[in-house]
Amino acid sequence: MDLTFNERETAFRDEVRAWFEAHPAGASPVNDEDAQYAWRRDYQRLMADAGLAAVHWPPEYGGRGATLTESAIFFEELGRSGAPLPANVLGLLLAGPTIMTWGTEAQKERHLAPILTGEEIWCQGFSEPEAGSDLASLKTRAVRDGDDWVITGQKVWTSGAQYSKWCMLVARTDTEVPKHKGLTYFLMDMEQDGIDIVPLRQITGEPEFNELFIDGARVPDSNVLGGEGNGWKVALTTLMNERAGLAFFLQVRLRQLLDDLIGEAAGRGLLDDPVVADRLGELHLRAEVLRLTAYRGLTAIEKYGTPGPEGSLTKWMWSDANQLLTQFAADLLGPEALTAGTPWAYELLRARGNSLEGGTTEVLKNIVAERVLGLPKAR
Ligand SMILES: Cc1cc2nc3c(=O)[nH]c(=O)nc-3n(C[C@H](O)[C@H](O)[C@H](O)COP(=O)(O)OP(=O)(O)OC[C@H]3O[C@@H](n4cnc5c(N)ncnc54)[C@H](O)[C@@H]3O)c2cc1C
Repeated sequence: MDLTFNERETAFRDEVRAWFEAHPAGASPVNDEDAQYAWRRDYQRLMADAGLAAVHWPPEYGGRGATLTESAIFFEELGRSGAPLPANVLGLLLAGPTIMTWGTEAQKERHLAPILTGEEIWCQGFSEPEAGSDLASLKTRAVRDGDDWVITGQKVWTSGAQYSKWCMLVARTDTEVPKHKGLTYFLMDMEQDGIDIVPLRQITGEPEFNELFIDGARVPDSNVLGGEGNGWKVALTTLMNERAGLAFFLQVRLRQLLDDLIGEAAGRGLLDDPVVADRLGELHLRAEVLRLTAYRGLTAIEKYGTPGPEGSLTKWMWSDANQLLTQFAADLLGPEALTAGTPWAYELLRARGNSLEGGTTEVLKNIVAERVLGLPKAR
């Protein structure tokens, strides 16, 4: 694809860059998750007021109807400015597009606007203790009771559940059919009895995600998304958007972190050290390949209308590169990068989860092998 921006794209980049420059987000609060969350929520509101919270959404839902290239430009500029990912990132990138694809008019009318403003935060209730990579074997049950569904089961690793009003919940509604066919996708209100949110503290010290114990929670039938028994297809829409949407943001954050690390090496007079230069050179190469591959993924979306398996490739490349980078930072900076509460220590520890979240590297490799390279199926 042609990577030169046309006039309209250049004007859009200039506009967005100027807006971010005029609205500096400041530094992220350190070691205080609630404060950090409030910082991200307030910045999302500011973006929503300027019509910039979801540029990729169609104008009728409050977006800018940005083209794919413009969306990529937006995320590049967001990352470049140091502004945080919006607090409602799962709503904007996952729930919103999934509701636009599968939702009824009433569901779109009810849910899209508060996602945009961050008024209602969303979480993703997919993974369970015995269903992660093999999501289709999930056991959480939904049983019909009049006009409602009654939900019982356990979800795990539910990021941001403690702040969420709504949950994208996949549950089993039919145990008699093959496992992919018995699933239904629900929009579940988190503010009700029958949902217990238990924080899980990560290696970074933050309880970023949670266990959800669901015991008799109720969801009206009008909150089924995409029809009973169609949950697998609807969930795939969510997963494809997850990997495609984040690629541009992640590649810019990788670049920023690398520039910071180069600055640290330069400050210590280490740029002439051949080992340091070699490792920084490799990381530079990986950051560039990731950027170009993320743009190449746009071609697939332009051709087929929905994100393709290329998003799996960029997610895998990013997590490898980020783990290498943060490990090298620890090698270079020594104890300074290993002291709790410092930004490099946070990056090093948080990066361990990169190869799990949003699909493990092994599973992404399977997808790339089968669906990008056309190799025989593993099973
Ligand atoms: C920071 C973070 C945030 C998360 N947030 C959310 C969230 O908000 N909502 C949510 O629903 N989930 C969330 N998750 C869960 C995440 O999606 C799962 O961890 C992931 O899908 C893997 O599932 P699992 O942990 O059950 O591991 P498993 O699927 O049990 O995998 C265990 C190991 O087996 C390997 N493996 C499994 N199947 C295969 C295969 N077919 N071929 C080769 N190797 C295989 C895996 O690669 C892994 O190494 C989050 C995870 C993290 C780390």
